Amino acid sequence: MEKQNIFHSIKCDMQGCNNFACSSFVLSDKKSEGINLCSSCIKGMYELISKEIVPKSIPNPLKKLKKIEKRREEKWIWFQNF
Ligand SMILES: [Zn+2]
Repeated sequence: MEKQNIFHSIKCDMQGCNNFACSSFVLSDKKSEGINLCSSCIKGMYELISKEIVPKSIPNPLKKLKKIEKRREEKWIWFQNF
């Protein structure tokens, strides 16, 4: 999917919105027609979508160290039982 800026007057495709579109979202093949949206509709959609799709956080190196320490302790306990 690609975003293209619109420099001429096209109405926003969202039903009930009377603003002029500022961006067009087109599939990568460019054969299909895109969706033209105004800035307020894009912002509204972004706010709704961002509630469902949360970016993954970067891995915490301290958490990994704790896991390694825990495994070592478990192995040590297992070794002491012999
Ligand atoms: Zn709109």
